[in-house]
Amino acid sequence: MCDYCTQHGAGERWYQNVRNYSKELESTSHVRDFCESYFSRDVPAGTDGFTSILDRISRPIRPNERDRVDERYSKYLHHQVVTRQEAKQVLEIASHQTDEHERAVVRLPCICRHISHGGDKDLRCFGIAFSDTYTRRFPSYLGGNHQYVSAEEASETLDEWTQTESIVHAVSALGVPYIGMLCNCDMQVCRPFIHRQRLGITSPWYKGHYAAVVNDTKCVGCGTCEKACPFGVIEIDIESQIARVNPEKCHGCGVCTNHCDDQALDLVAYERQSGY
Ligand code: SF4
Ligand code: SF4
Repeated sequence: MCDYCTQHGAGERWYQNVRNYSKELESTSHVRDFCESYFSRDVPAGTDGFTSILDRISRPIRPNERDRVDERYSKYLHHQVVTRQEAKQVLEIASHQTDEHERAVVRLPCICRHISHGGDKDLRCFGIAFSDTYTRRFPSYLGGNHQYVSAEEASETLDEWTQTESIVHAVSALGVPYIGMLCNCDMQVCRPFIHRQRLGITSPWYKGHYAAVVNDTKCVGCGTCEKACPFGVIEIDIESQIARVNPEKCHGCGVCTNHCDDQALDLVAYERQSGY
């Protein structure tokens, strides 16, 4: 169990605790104040409802801002890796927590991708268990660019992406522990992960509760998983020509398991000794 499970899981993983999707929690001033700020403070000033938040988020973070950033992520904007199966479970839980089922999931542009690539605003982020607190901000925040889908449709989209991309799923708290987002991340451009690495803090991005293990009898040493791992933690052992995963470095995302044609990789529950 990670810190957030211990504090907010009620005996389960924190993202499996139904209360963390509830309107009761979403209504607290802690969550509302953060979301009001995050979704609206500077945003309407942007010409397309997107530009000013990009400026704010893409501003470089200096090392002397480490403590402030650490505190902000810890209290408000925590992300944690989940497997695809867990991501689907998150969507399912969220679909039972909204008053309007057709609004169980809203696809949103990914700010991280847009900062890095520009161009079209891919609808890669999922807002979940959203209330009108946020949806009424959408026209200014997103320039109208969003799409409501059912939890089932969102789940099918995750499967489609798995076929062609190395996407890492992460639950995101909008005011810890209220879970308001399911991010589908490109680790080359993910801002929370970049902040974790740049500042040496874990609060922006926690590893998941699993680690990949290699079945030595099935692995043929092709190296496909080594190329696919978004965190660069798989190596082909020179002597044995078998893939090796360091479980402490593994983030438990499961991307590698989708790329092995020989079914030589599995995810197993893993308690991290060195923290998440
Ligand atoms: S993709 Fe599968 S078979 Fe190829 S090196 Fe990785 S674990 Fe082994
Ligand atoms: S080894 Fe597999 S599960 Fe671990 S971080 Fe890499 S892709 Fe994800």
